[in-house]
Amino acid sequence: MIPYKHEPFTDFTNEKNHKDFVQALKTVERYLGQEYPLIIGGERIMTEDKIISINPAKKTEVIGKVAKANKKLAGEAMNAAGRAFQFWRKVKPEFRAGFLFKAAAIIRRRKHEFSALLTKEAGKPWKEADADTAEAIDFLEYYGRQMLKLKDGVPVESRPGEFNRYGYIPLGVGVVISPWNFPFAIMAGTTVAALVTGNTVVLKPASTTPVIAAKFVEVLEEAGLPKGVLNYVPGSGSEIGDYLVDHPKTRFISFTGSRDVGLRIFERAGQLSEGQIWLKRVIAEMGGKDTIVVDKEADLELAAQSIVASAFGFSGQKCSACSRAVVVEDVYEEVLNRVVELTEKLTIGNPSRQDYFMGPVIDQAAYDKIMSYIEIGKGEGKLMIGGEGDDSEGYFIRPTVFADLDPKARIMQEEIFGPVVGFTKAKNFDQAIEIANNTEYGLTGAVITTNREHIEKAREDFHVGNLYFNRGCTGAIVGYQPFGGFNLSGTDSKAGGPDYLPLHMQGKTTSEMF
Ligand code: GLU
Repeated sequence: MIPYKHEPFTDFTNEKNHKDFVQALKTVERYLGQEYPLIIGGERIMTEDKIISINPAKKTEVIGKVAKANKKLAGEAMNAAGRAFQFWRKVKPEFRAGFLFKAAAIIRRRKHEFSALLTKEAGKPWKEADADTAEAIDFLEYYGRQMLKLKDGVPVESRPGEFNRYGYIPLGVGVVISPWNFPFAIMAGTTVAALVTGNTVVLKPASTTPVIAAKFVEVLEEAGLPKGVLNYVPGSGSEIGDYLVDHPKTRFISFTGSRDVGLRIFERAGQLSEGQIWLKRVIAEMGGKDTIVVDKEADLELAAQSIVASAFGFSGQKCSACSRAVVVEDVYEEVLNRVVELTEKLTIGNPSRQDYFMGPVIDQAAYDKIMSYIEIGKGEGKLMIGGEGDDSEGYFIRPTVFADLDPKARIMQEEIFGPVVGFTKAKNFDQAIEIANNTEYGLTGAVITTNREHIEKAREDFHVGNLYFNRGCTGAIVGYQPFGGFNLSGTDSKAGGPDYLPLHMQGKTTSEMF
């Protein structure tokens, strides 16, 4: 087996790659507006009620009309997954991993097409879409290999006349509720982590990005995944989300999304439903309020570049995004001014037309929420740049920088999930780390410094799941930087890491006497 290596990113300054991507956008345009059925036990079911997926950069462009499950259909998906579990749990891990490798190969061949679809359905700029597709491939390749490592369990000791074994068995039916911000990578990663470990899945993708999920389910079908192992049931959170979480046959829930929905799931999963005979497991990746700390001994150009890239990449709609810059006072003005200069140069527009740095935000609700935070910011700090939006054609918001905020200001505490970054001044490095830790989250963070002692201090005291030095705080790579956070950022389940798969399994000890 070839050792794991992450999928390389595409260089769009290369003319051929650029042309291929334009071609891929055209390919996707040919199938815009199509209808997508639910897939339950391998059967395609069309519903009258539909989710209309639109391009957030151009509201009039319909990406697809997707069937919408109600409780009854969600119940059927649970039953189908339950039936499929009876044989899938006995399928050899090598075989299960094989589906992942095959799916990765299929996606790799159509890589630009998937990225082009992400550009349309999620409004992702090319580079971001390309990274999303690359990460989806990475999850398939990495989890496939991880399963091969775990398939024989972990050796334990035996006494004379005794043969002890310790291995992992699957849990059962998993409900996967995936987000719209990495609608390919996280949707695919959370789904296949559950499948490769021998579970069957009911997948409820985000309602704003259900088409990319439908395409992924088709890829797994093409790879030969047996019917019923993966069931595709888009639907509204209020109609089927709670229902699936509460279902007595749900064995675990793998969720990525907001803090509030995550908390709701965690709470509901703790309640025993009629006929339920286990404690449900919850794997949750929730919000973030991520900080880049800039020390006075630092490469200030690197600091400014890192803040801008991490704050505004994909319009700040990553839970890893930098939404706070905490800068030691000696260099505060210089870093702030450079960030404003760099922000001024960012291009923004419809990524279907050209390769802009930034596209739109995902929908009207996000637009309204971010704009209302910008109003709050104007009262709390000094607006340096941005602050305007335009939702006439798509949901566009200018990259926005607020300065001189109190560390406890709402802009510095609450997750905005948009292109807004707040600056706060710290007296010294120790105080900067204190401020960095003062939220209820703990997902990512970065420290820009050349001071070795400060690096070690941050390593011990900066309490985040992903801490980066002298770089930005987004862009974890599968297998290289396991990703997941502390505190209210989630269950510290590290996606793309060596102990992610065991979260989807239970250990079984067998002991035989001779
Ligand atoms: N893994 C992504 C990163 O490191 C963020 C994932 C998310 O936003 O949910 O940037």
